[in-house]
Amino acid sequence: MRIAVLKERAAGETRTAATPETVKKFIALGAEMAVEAGAGLSASITDEDYRAAGAQVGDAAAAVAGADIVLAVQAPDPALLAGAKPGAWVAATFDPFRDRARVDAYAAAGLEALAMEFMPRITRAQSMDVLSSQSNLAGYKAVLAAANQYGRAFPMMMTAAGTVSAAKVFVMGVGVAGLQAIATARRLGAQVSATDVRSATKEQIQSLGAKPVFVESVAGIEGEGAGGYATEMSPEYQAAQAELVSSHIAKQDIVITTALIPGRPAPRLITDAQIATMRPGSVIFDLAVAQGGNVEGSVADEVVERHGVFIMGYSNTPAHLPADASALFSRNHYNFLSAFWDKAAGRPVLDEEIGNAIRLTQGGIVVSERLKG
Ligand code: NAD
Repeated sequence: MRIAVLKERAAGETRTAATPETVKKFIALGAEMAVEAGAGLSASITDEDYRAAGAQVGDAAAAVAGADIVLAVQAPDPALLAGAKPGAWVAATFDPFRDRARVDAYAAAGLEALAMEFMPRITRAQSMDVLSSQSNLAGYKAVLAAANQYGRAFPMMMTAAGTVSAAKVFVMGVGVAGLQAIATARRLGAQVSATDVRSATKEQIQSLGAKPVFVESVAGIEGEGAGGYATEMSPEYQAAQAELVSSHIAKQDIVITTALIPGRPAPRLITDAQIATMRPGSVIFDLAVAQGGNVEGSVADEVVERHGVFIMGYSNTPAHLPADASALFSRNHYNFLSAFWDKAAGRPVLDEEIGNAIRLTQGGIVVSERLKG
């Protein structure tokens, strides 16, 4: 069983799909590990670190030659994987709804594409879930980036020269990233409020010491929502939410938006007219900017100034924390493959529930039900 890890080639990608820690663990399972030279450099891991952990380090072709499994953060161009075994598994994020051509190319190449972002949200898969591990870091980084852009302080400070008042932070979308954003903003001393469409988040917001701000006139999504995911809301709900946001946002200094809907563009939560009501110098960080954006006028990797308000967002927020993001992503990969390791076969054998959820291509065709629908 040979597992290969290539250097990530997507622009701005700093993460890597295996660390010396997971290399050692895979070797302990009986795998042979091959890493492309330089694969970890942007995450502060040297080739020597990989060698010391027991990996073979070589060029891309040498790493991939004869591989049974390829691990990546973002799925590589299948042309790079020509030397892998026929039917080799590639476990990575595929962004399959937006990059269908790549999925088709994987099918044509006879590779088995395993989309880590399709990992079902079930208890036993929590430790394998790259969306959770990366969103958590993204929520943290969004608050730090917004705080850095903000020309005022977050905590209340009483000084001899007078008092600095605490920043007011509003978090929209309280999933994994939103919860971490609330916690981070609270740690920095801000006054925090938050909203979501799923009613189960109300208690979570309160338990972090923040104030829930919810649409009450139209029913939102009961409890967690199906699989923890939100759906597109009715026009009535959207109108009520817009009214609520308009009255709340004018009093906020920092807004962090995190709302996503799987397979759909991100919902628009803040309009230009609402931005115009905010105090100059306020900051909005749009964590959904790469999925179409929650905020009118947000541009990935730029700070846009509108009505004196700074609107920002990164196309790849976890890539701004390369070492920790790589460590957690790599553990997700290891937790996934090791959970299914069949000692007798000397390789992982997926069960139906998780295999069917994440497998995009097999035997030359696209097999994912989510992509067929
Ligand atoms: P997500 O990234 O899909 O969405 C972010 C948040 O935005 C969600 O809370 C969503 O409800 C919210 N949202 C969507 N549309 C909105 C709108 N119009 N206005 C306001 N908010 C809106 O969500 P996520 O971070 O992946 O997590 C969602 C839930 O799933 C959480 O409860 C989380 O704990 C759960 N989860 C469970 C597992 C597991 O059990 N393995 C793994 C991951 C997440």
